[in-house]
Amino acid sequence: MRLRNRPGAMEKLTAHPEYVIQQPETLKGKWRGNFNNDNPVHIEIGTGKGQFIIETAKQNPHVNFVGIELQTSVLLSVLEKQLEEELPNLLLLQADAANLQEYFEEGEVGRIYLNFSDPWPKKRHEKRRLTYKTFLTTYEKVLADDGEIIFKTDNQGLFEYSLVSFSEYGAKLEDVKLDLHHSDVEDNVMTEYEEKFSKKGNRIYRAIIGFEN
Ligand code: SAM
Repeated sequence: MRLRNRPGAMEKLTAHPEYVIQQPETLKGKWRGNFNNDNPVHIEIGTGKGQFIIETAKQNPHVNFVGIELQTSVLLSVLEKQLEEELPNLLLLQADAANLQEYFEEGEVGRIYLNFSDPWPKKRHEKRRLTYKTFLTTYEKVLADDGEIIFKTDNQGLFEYSLVSFSEYGAKLEDVKLDLHHSDVEDNVMTEYEEKFSKKGNRIYRAIIGFEN
């Protein structure tokens, strides 16, 4: 996601500790308590401007959502939406997915959404892909036994790479859609990238992955 650097983005994020978690390490193992309920915790890695997580949190009030985004200027756009919506089941985190285990206890997360992750097409950047094996190790640790990853992309190369990566890791492909928008799935929530690229005629791929044998 390319977005102009927005001056003062970090200050604006820290001005809203009710929605933007400042010290996520202190919540490790305590996310549900922080939401004041016992509902499952679902996270999105790389929220972009937040269209997906805002709509998904609205539609699922009995799930706790944590939106994670690396770039402060991008996360600020999500915060601005959340300040309008005031959804009690959505918190935001400016963080790198590589550090998830510092913030979430083993088994604390019920579902991870990876939506239109950066493809990093050059082989020398493989380790940056969010479906590279080191990330899968991290996801497996923080996910509950029956937890799952839902991965969507329009990038055929990244999709094929990721299916192989999941499979080589020993994860289970629960469901694969090679053309999500022309499938039997009726409850799909579109992301910003999904809207943009499907309008251009790109096919949308989706895989659901579990780790339980
Ligand atoms: N999910 C949104 C969508 O579908 O419209 C945005 C897609 S954009 C291509 C990918 C986003 O992931 C960018 O905003 C980027 O900053 C974020 N991102 C990339 N690597 C990340 C990481 N390691 N941890 C957290 N966010 C990351």
